[in-house]
Amino acid sequence: MSKIQMTTPLVEMDGDEMTRILWKYIKEELIEPFVDLKTEYYDLGLEHRNETDDQVTIDSAEATKKYGVAVKCATITPNAARVEEYKLKEMWKSPNGTIRAILDGTVFRAPIIVKGIEPCVRNWKKPITIARHAYGDVYKASEMKIPGAGKVELVYTDASGKEERVLVHEFKEAGVVQGQHNICGSIESFARSCFNFALDSKQSLWFATKDTISKQYDHTFKDIFEEIFNAEYKEKFDALGIEYFYTLIDDAVARVMKSEGGFIWACKNYDGDVMSDMLSSAFGSLAMMTSVLVSPQGYYEYEAAHGTVQRHYYKHLNGEETSTNSVATIFAWTGALRKRGELDGNSDLMKFADDLETACIKTIEEGKMTGDLARITSIANPTVLNSLDFIKAIRTTYESL
Ligand code: NAP
Ligand code: MG
Repeated sequence: MSKIQMTTPLVEMDGDEMTRILWKYIKEELIEPFVDLKTEYYDLGLEHRNETDDQVTIDSAEATKKYGVAVKCATITPNAARVEEYKLKEMWKSPNGTIRAILDGTVFRAPIIVKGIEPCVRNWKKPITIARHAYGDVYKASEMKIPGAGKVELVYTDASGKEERVLVHEFKEAGVVQGQHNICGSIESFARSCFNFALDSKQSLWFATKDTISKQYDHTFKDIFEEIFNAEYKEKFDALGIEYFYTLIDDAVARVMKSEGGFIWACKNYDGDVMSDMLSSAFGSLAMMTSVLVSPQGYYEYEAAHGTVQRHYYKHLNGEETSTNSVATIFAWTGALRKRGELDGNSDLMKFADDLETACIKTIEEGKMTGDLARITSIANPTVLNSLDFIKAIRTTYESL
C-alpha cells in the first residue's frame, strides 16, 4: 500500500511526560505507517526549552505563522517544584501563553462524542464548542483592599494630560475594589476568530455577556461582534444556513442546558474558563476534549485539552503499566492533518484524518478503552487496555475499515 503524500509540512511541537510517550506511539503506530509524514519538528519538552532559553517556543510559533498549521503535545508549565525537578535556569512561562501571545488567537474546545460515554445532560446529542476570549478582564485586573472610609475613582488621563473621572464608590467602611480592562483590537480578533470558526465548522455561533448590567464594558463586546458580523460575515452565514445571535449570559446558560448541542458558544475570558470545565466534565472526560487555537489571520494550532498526565508518567518511569487515554492527542493530529489537507487541496489526507477519528470512536464503542473511560462507560464489561495496546487496537480498527 502506498503512503499518502503531503506537500506542506505541519509544525510539530513535541512536549512532556506521559503525553510525550503517547506522541511517539501515535506517530509510529497510527500516522507514519499510512502517511509520508512531513513535519518541521520543534522540541518543546521542558529540557530543550531550558537549553534554548525558551527560544524554541517562540520559533515554533513563528513557524506556525509561516506554514499555517501546527500540532502540539501537552507541555509542562513550570512552577517552583518543576524548577527544582528539572534544574531550570528560570521559571519559564507557559508555552501556550507564549504561543497565544504571538498568534493572537482564540481557543476553541470541543468534546469528542462516543456512544457509551453519555453526557450527564440527557438531551445533549452533539458537541458544544466553547470559544474563550484569552485576553484581559479579571485576568489582567488591578485590585486593592480598601482599609476604611474614603473615595475610589477611575481616572483616565489622555495623551495631552486631560483627566476624566468616574466614581467607583464612596466607601463608609472597609472593602475591596477591582479595575478591569480590555482592548478593542483584541475583542475584534476574538470576534473574527469565532465567525471564521463557525464558517469552517458550519455551526451556528452564540455569544453572551451581561450587557444589561455592564452598559459600557460588556456592551462594547456586544457592539463589536454585531458590527463585524453585519459588515463581514452575515452573507456567508446566510449562504451556509447557520446563524449568529447574541443573548444574555444567564439566558445562554439556560438555553445550553435545554439544547441538543451542535453549536459554538463564545464566552468572555472568565465565563469561558468556568464554562469549559463544566462542559468537559458534563460531557464525560477531560481526556476526550479537543482544543484548537485559531488566529484571526487563519493560523491553526491543535492540541489536547488535558495536561501531561504527570501521575501516569511517574508510574511509567517506575516500569508500571499505564492506561492513559490518547484520543484527544490523536484528534490533535487528525485536526491538524485535516486542516493541512484542506489548505493544500489534499483530499487523501483529509480522508485519512476522518478515518482515523472514526477508528478511535469505533474502538471505544466496541468496548476497548483506557481506564479513565472504563470507569464511566455505560458499556457492559469493557476491555481495559494499556496505553500502547489501546493505540494498537485503534490501528487494527483503522486497518479493518
Ligand atoms: P493533567 O495532565 O490534565 O492530568 C490531571 C489528571 O486527569 C490525571 O492525573 C488523570 O487522572 C486525568 N487525565 C488527564 N488526561 C488524561 C488522559 N489522557 N488519560 C487518562 N487520564 C487523564 O493535569 P495536571 O496533572 O494538573 O498537570 C500536569 C502537567 O500538565 C502540569 O505540569 C501542567 O503544567 C501541564 N498542563 C499542560 C497543559 C497543556 O500543555 N495544554 C494543560 C494543562 C496542564 P488520574 O491521575 O486520576 O488517572
Ligand atoms: Mg479553568
